[in-house]
Amino acid sequence: MFCITRNPYILTQRHDCRRMNVVCHFCGALHWMDERVSSSKQSPELSTCCLHGQVSLPLLPDPPYPLQELYTSQSTQAREFRNNIVLYN
Ligand SMILES: [Zn+2]
Repeated sequence: MFCITRNPYILTQRHDCRRMNVVCHFCGALHWMDERVSSSKQSPELSTCCLHGQVSLPLLPDPPYPLQELYTSQSTQAREFRNNIVLYN
């Protein structure tokens, strides 16, 4: 993932956030390595997602039928919806 940072006057260098591939072993959330609270890169400690497993949220309920169909169906209409979901949003 790349982040472009700007200041009001000069377009600065592109910053590479690298891959978001560090997994919290408590909740499975994905993080960037720089989000770790420990210095270890071999077993990074993370705390911004679930406070080391102290916070557990219930799963979200399934969306209502028309939306669930659009999210999961292989119909032409559903694929068109997913390809342009940002525009529908
Ligand atoms: Zn977590």
